[in-house]
Amino acid sequence: MTSQSYPNLCIHTMTNKPWDLKTAVQKYQDRGIGGISVWQNVVEPIGVAEASLILNASDLEVVSYVRGGFFPAASRHDREKAIAHNLGMIEESAQLGAPVLVLVCGAEPTLSKQANEDQICAGIEAILESAAAHQVVLGIEPLHPMYADTRSAINTLGQANRIAARFASPWVKVVFDVYHLWWDPNLEEEIEISFKTDVFGTYHICDWKVPTTDFLTDRGIMGEGCIDLEQIDQLIMAQGFDGYREVEIFSEAYWKQDQDEYLDRILNAYQVLY
Ligand code: ZN
Repeated sequence: MTSQSYPNLCIHTMTNKPWDLKTAVQKYQDRGIGGISVWQNVVEPIGVAEASLILNASDLEVVSYVRGGFFPAASRHDREKAIAHNLGMIEESAQLGAPVLVLVCGAEPTLSKQANEDQICAGIEAILESAAAHQVVLGIEPLHPMYADTRSAINTLGQANRIAARFASPWVKVVFDVYHLWWDPNLEEEIEISFKTDVFGTYHICDWKVPTTDFLTDRGIMGEGCIDLEQIDQLIMAQGFDGYREVEIFSEAYWKQDQDEYLDRILNAYQVLY
């Protein structure tokens, strides 16, 4: 193991979308980054076996695999399809050595909020045994309410905490993403609850640009936007968090730029802040 300049930093491969897995692994390792979170789109073209060889040969720790979820659907057939897909993703996570499968839980706009939540819980219940057998944590990621129509009916840390705690399983946790949660007036209290109930899982960082030109693919580098990243980080670290800070930036603008320069900007911003 070579010495790492950023041992507690992890980058999501989607951050450098133009790079394939092999390139991303090489670039992250060269810069002394500690961890990598792998998105399925970089695994698909080469297959899980090849992807896991690439990851195993590196010094990077695989932090999570992204993403499962999307449980709610109007028909039973589609809900069963979603469960089958998630079972496959759990197996892939285990093969890749990823201890966490991130769940973007989904939402079906023709259903009520409660029905969506019930279907999400039923979906998690249906895959929990497999998650435990493969030792893969299911990470419920609450998404900003602007995505409540089709992407996730779980929209606050409080809601995610309650759902995760209901399972009372070491294999169900919460994924905390500053982009989705920064606005919440109950954040401090809910972070405490998350740790007290032992459901805090992993931690994603980026920034909310002002103005934001696209609500999916215009995320900012840390320090570029309005999120009080320092304060949120203090709240999380005060609870004894010792996992990775995972940079997850979706940005059409940055994906068009030189990815090496962009990654160096991320590292500079990280050093300034953390
Ligand atoms: Zn995230």
